[in-house]
Amino acid sequence: SSLTISPAPILTKLQRDCATPLPVLRHVADAMAADMRAGLEVDAGSDLKMILSYVDALPTGNEKGLFYALDLGGTNFRVLRVQLGGKDERVIATEFEQVSIPPELMSGTSEELFDFIATGLTQFAQKETGKFHLPQGRTRELGFTFSFPVKQTSIDSGILMNWTKGFSVSGTAGKDVVACLNEAMKRQGLNMRVSALVNDTVGTLAGARYWDDDVMVAVILGTGTNACYVECVNAIPKLHKPNSTTGGKTIVNTEWGAFSNGLPLTEFDQEMDAQSKNPGEQIFEKTISGMYLGEIVRRVLVRMAEDARLFGDSVPEKLLMPFSLRTPDICAMQQDSSKDFEVVGSILYNVAGVNSNLSTRKTIIDVCDTIAKRGGRLAGAGIVGILQKMEEDSQGIVFGKRTVVAMDGGLYEHYPQYRMYLQDAVTELLGDEISKNIIIEHSKDGSGIGAALLAATNSMYE
Ligand code: ADP
Repeated sequence: SSLTISPAPILTKLQRDCATPLPVLRHVADAMAADMRAGLEVDAGSDLKMILSYVDALPTGNEKGLFYALDLGGTNFRVLRVQLGGKDERVIATEFEQVSIPPELMSGTSEELFDFIATGLTQFAQKETGKFHLPQGRTRELGFTFSFPVKQTSIDSGILMNWTKGFSVSGTAGKDVVACLNEAMKRQGLNMRVSALVNDTVGTLAGARYWDDDVMVAVILGTGTNACYVECVNAIPKLHKPNSTTGGKTIVNTEWGAFSNGLPLTEFDQEMDAQSKNPGEQIFEKTISGMYLGEIVRRVLVRMAEDARLFGDSVPEKLLMPFSLRTPDICAMQQDSSKDFEVVGSILYNVAGVNSNLSTRKTIIDVCDTIAKRGGRLAGAGIVGILQKMEEDSQGIVFGKRTVVAMDGGLYEHYPQYRMYLQDAVTELLGDEISKNIIIEHSKDGSGIGAALLAATNSMYE
């Protein structure tokens, strides 16, 4: 039939359902602060786990010597070494290597995986020359960034609760991952020990703090999302520590991806969640992080294709495949400044195998913008929630002086509109005066060096 049906009503409804006016942002920020408090009271007291990192000393810049870091969090592991020269010389030299993990090891045994990693570390350590120097008789020290759910038991031990991200290695769950790595290094005859086990957000905070004393919060916006911040020991009831008068500080890993209170969600979000591997979980993550933004847009486009013939008579088959439209695609479409939106056209052709006219391309950009805007603004509201909680406990310490939020992750790094929406929400919530004091800045790859710095801060030789 030649009857044209407009996608406009679907777009209008989407924009209405995704709207994040100031009262919605304020509610999210307040709820984030309240959930943080509840999670600090007792374990399992809230959506937010508020995990104690056992990191209670952050890098100062005075660290000296040779330190290693290992980052295991996906299909690659990264090894890094850094020679630190103290306050004046700072980072004298740094080197890193990346090794991809053979797929069969991701579902093999614990020994096989850790032996593979220890072998890579040994080969890397053998190339330690030039500016890198280990004093005679010393053991090398390593900061271990391990981005899987861990129940940390001290700065250098933690129990793996379960593997995620496609790993299903047998014999590690319930074990101390630091012991697993230390034993594997021993088997390889490598003279190295783990001094600090850190979450990637904690590594980012430490790495950024090394250069800037005002860094108080770190946020990762990549495939997933998480945030950590500097907390007063006195403000953590579940720690059961007598009130310290020394004003002790520690880093708390919020695991904020599990937040769910008061988010503006659509039928598309609900369907995506229901069909996910973890229905009902990680709702904030599913609304704001890189793994999901493209998928939400895809679901909207499928609906527009079905109900409003967005791509003509049939629904493009390739578009029906979950996760076929990725966040980098929607980001690239939004950067298209050509008159006819040719980039949008070619991405649609590549992803969905369809030709599109100008009005279809414009509609699609509006859908991308709606989803990126909601994500960025809610992430901004989450950040304000953390700052608000810190401010309530220590009047003026956060809002009354320069405070830095260190950001990292591919989504934040590469999506300019998302970043702008995030900053807009922070400024709207805090007002012009206070937001002048709050610096939200990208801290590139701070997490690797951050883990090495935490190995230094927690060195057995200091
Ligand atoms: P991790 O997978 O450990 O989070 P990154 O921090 O590098 O790794 O984040 C990768 C994620 O960042 C991707 O899954 C994707 O969602 C997002 N991303 C990467 N490149 C872009 C891009 N050009 N535009 C928007 N998002 C991107």
